[in-house]
Amino acid sequence: MLTIYNTLTNQKEKFTPLHKGEVTFYSCGPTVYDYAHIGNLRTYLLADILKRVLELNGYKVKHVMNITDVGHLTADDIGQADAGDDKMLKAMKRERKTPEAIASFYEKAFRRDIEKLNIEKADFYPRATQHVAEMIKIIQTLLKKGYAYEKNGNVFYDVDKFKKYGRLSNKKLSELKHGARLEDHPDKKHPYDFALWLKAPKNHLLQWDSPWGKGYPGWHIECSAMSMRYLGKTLDIHSGGEDNIFPHHENEIAQSEAYSCEIFANFWVHPRHLLVDGKKMSKSAGNFYTLADIVEKGYSPMAFRLLVLGSHYRSNLNFTWTSLQQAEKNLQKIETFLREIKKMAEENKVEVSSFSERERNEFLKISIGNVKPKHCLDKFVLAVNDDLNTPLALSLVYRFIKEVRKVPRLTPEQIKAILVFWEKVNKVLGLKFDFAEKSDFKKIPATVKVLLERRKKARQQKNFPLADELRKKIEKKGYLVEDTPEGTVVKNKM
Ligand SMILES: [Zn+2]
Repeated sequence: MLTIYNTLTNQKEKFTPLHKGEVTFYSCGPTVYDYAHIGNLRTYLLADILKRVLELNGYKVKHVMNITDVGHLTADDIGQADAGDDKMLKAMKRERKTPEAIASFYEKAFRRDIEKLNIEKADFYPRATQHVAEMIKIIQTLLKKGYAYEKNGNVFYDVDKFKKYGRLSNKKLSELKHGARLEDHPDKKHPYDFALWLKAPKNHLLQWDSPWGKGYPGWHIECSAMSMRYLGKTLDIHSGGEDNIFPHHENEIAQSEAYSCEIFANFWVHPRHLLVDGKKMSKSAGNFYTLADIVEKGYSPMAFRLLVLGSHYRSNLNFTWTSLQQAEKNLQKIETFLREIKKMAEENKVEVSSFSERERNEFLKISIGNVKPKHCLDKFVLAVNDDLNTPLALSLVYRFIKEVRKVPRLTPEQIKAILVFWEKVNKVLGLKFDFAEKSDFKKIPATVKVLLERRKKARQQKNFPLADELRKKIEKKGYLVEDTPEGTVVKNKM
């Protein structure tokens, strides 16, 4: 039985879905005007782990993650964010591209990132620009019901009308009124009213016709529209980053429940922040990292996945290069272990894929030195079912490996049990090892590796003529160098 901490009730609760055996799950996805940073990636990894644990419990999960390619996206810390610079417009100026080109470029980058992190694909990745009609329909209903008001072509949600406003974030509107320090929109009645629709300035590149004139949707309405469109009026679980609790998720609840008269989501799940060297990550502080930065420094995306698994999602994750290095070491330990077991399995002609689930479970009952795989697996399941306690689950796996290593010679039956054990725990851990790729890299001659290292340094120092010269030298030795957004890729010319 899975228990999970629900932000809505501030406690761990037993999870039961609305419909037996099926779970509807919505996660706030990327805003595609820039690369995802490692804090965003931690949030997507949490959604992935939760989904895998739900599947472990036998649920069929219908998962939707939105792609925000429109909306007034401003600095995250300006309250309701209806004022300030639009991030998409900034990106357009920076990159001299159309909004469509920017959105498509960063959406592809996001998809590559999640693939590298072995995140299971959602069933749908709806784009906001393709659901404006649904958003307009909801806004019209909110106006009709008196939860919203229109002024000068802008439509705002009237937070005073929604009695439960503030329940998710534990904020009281009366207190917010006094504490409000927001850049106000002149047409708002209350500083915490938020935009459902904004009038577009003449040259605004993303605009649609609406009953209120030409404009574009506010920041929050897309998630209400797309989640209800694909998953129905009540979701079993909604997840997103901790900084989405207020105002984004609070506003999603206000819009959706006023519209549908139903509970919007039964469970709200939020991972805590990812800090870098104990500080909030920001571009200006120079501690802003993407997956490409991690790869560039020679770490594997799986090491980052393992780092995330090693900390509980409801604690801040303090990212340091030392902690990533440790995760990489642990990853290598697991990889070496699996490589050895695979080799032994081949030598002993042992395989488990052709056996039934019942037979596989039987294999686990054997003892291996001081451990019983079945016992260890049961404890693993209890750990992940207890509010996704992945650090405890991982420590059980490490202990298992340590104990197995003590056994001087494994029997074919024991090898079978280890293979089944790993198969089962890795359905949750989601670690991916590309044994073949690694051995290819090993084939690159040392002289080429030295040149690659020198070229990397030259690029870091922005000495591009030298980097180019080194690339030519590498090519002469028969290797092609390609710089991708995720780092440098080396291929054998043959
Ligand atoms: Zn959202």
